[in-house]
Amino acid sequence: GRSVSRFTTAAAIELITPPVQIQYTKHLINGQFVDAASGKTFPTYDPRTGEVIAHVAEGDAEDINRAVAAARKAFDEGPWPKMSAYERSRILLRFADLVEKHSEELAALETWNNGKPYEQAAHAELPMLARLFYYYAGWADKIHGLTVPADGPYHVQTLHEPIGVAGQIIPWNFPLLMFAWKVGPALACGNTIVLKTAEQTPLTALYVAKLFQEAGLPPGVLNIVSGYGPTAGAALASHMDVDKIAFTGSTDTGKIILELAAKSNLKPVTLELGGKSPFIICEDADIDKAVELAHFALFFNQGQCCCAGSRTFVHERVYDEFLEKAKARALKRTVGDPFKKGVEQGPQIDSEQFQKPTVFSNVQDDMLIAQDEIFGPVQSILKFKELDEVVRRANSTRYGLAAGVFTRSVDTANTLTRALRAGTVWVNCFDVFDAAIPFGGYKMSGIGREKGIYSLHNYLQVKAVVTPLKNAAWL
Ligand code: NAD
Repeated sequence: GRSVSRFTTAAAIELITPPVQIQYTKHLINGQFVDAASGKTFPTYDPRTGEVIAHVAEGDAEDINRAVAAARKAFDEGPWPKMSAYERSRILLRFADLVEKHSEELAALETWNNGKPYEQAAHAELPMLARLFYYYAGWADKIHGLTVPADGPYHVQTLHEPIGVAGQIIPWNFPLLMFAWKVGPALACGNTIVLKTAEQTPLTALYVAKLFQEAGLPPGVLNIVSGYGPTAGAALASHMDVDKIAFTGSTDTGKIILELAAKSNLKPVTLELGGKSPFIICEDADIDKAVELAHFALFFNQGQCCCAGSRTFVHERVYDEFLEKAKARALKRTVGDPFKKGVEQGPQIDSEQFQKPTVFSNVQDDMLIAQDEIFGPVQSILKFKELDEVVRRANSTRYGLAAGVFTRSVDTANTLTRALRAGTVWVNCFDVFDAAIPFGGYKMSGIGREKGIYSLHNYLQVKAVVTPLKNAAWL
């Protein structure tokens, strides 16, 4: 059983009815919505109330086998990898147009199943979803190899070919954006896909998969299986006919995925994992702005961000003022029905969570809350004195996903951006995502980068083709 947070008691707020219908609950395999091979379903919830809102096909190894067979056939025999890159680009563009057209229903469905504020889903995440596909549509017909010089009399060229069937496993915190980061580059490069959604949030990926069909994506190119990690997810990661696996989720599961890939067919793995990101506020910072940004860095999406700025380091000279204002800001946070205008925070995805955001001061580096990812609205505030010291402390976790720096000094910014061991460093901003900006982790925060040009490398094979210049077979 899954325990779900209920922030309302029976007598409390009247909840807003989501302005959308649930239409798709079955797996999408080979262009058809189909029941699970076992006939089983699992419930999916409205995190506001814990109410079951739909029963969704529950995939296991047999459904994964069917989906992989469809993706394999679509890759080996189907039109997708053979289609001209321009035609592929046109399908991705049409899909992005459809996302824009249906963005209100999609945002409502995302909020209903995940609990995030509707305004955030509609005005930040849906535009980013469309943008990601416009961006990768632009890449589809600009992927090409090189002509390379050789020491001998040879003509040498490289071909950049799709890798094959991509397996993709995504989490629940940004169901549509995680879909986009995985599917966009894989399709642009000409791969076919089996994607397993998170068991908490299966609904929106099925909806957008339907839009992909409308855009003209051939059957079998994108297959979606709903289900749990140890069954459906593990079957995908260990499948012998899957050529690549991409995963976003916790570091512990990332290790399992890597092991399953190694024990099966050594498929290459990219991992986007957890974090414990520092946000460093220097003594020259504008404190009011720093408070607001540090608050956003941690509390955005209910604190359920892999890159949440969950360790706020504040210079000792401004610490007391910062702390007081940070507490006041957290108390002002509007928690409520995520469909209501102005609500900053909806319910957590599941389990008993906090009624109100929490701020801890005087946190020490070795405390568990300064080391372990919490993935909730819990801000730890730590005091520092010297730059060298804060660099050492900021880098002293096993993670390295992101970091934030708040200062007016270019020298301080330059020193910190180079010294911090993290895949992203935001200076005087936080959580700025863009289709072109690569994202990924140092250390145990992951392997590889997603988004931008970097993600294309995850979905391409390089083939060297060598031809003699003289004495060729036909001479
Ligand atoms: P999780 O690892 O439990 O689940 C993520 C996905 O993996 C789900 O689809 C789940 O079904 C699947 N899974 C679980 N066990 C599996 C197994 N044995 N084999 C195959 N698949 C399996 O993660 P979670 O706790 O639900 O999600 C939150 C985590 O995701 C956080 O730790 C967060 O930091 C991380 N995250 C990272 C990024 C990033 O880009 N680095 C982005 C979002 C979330």
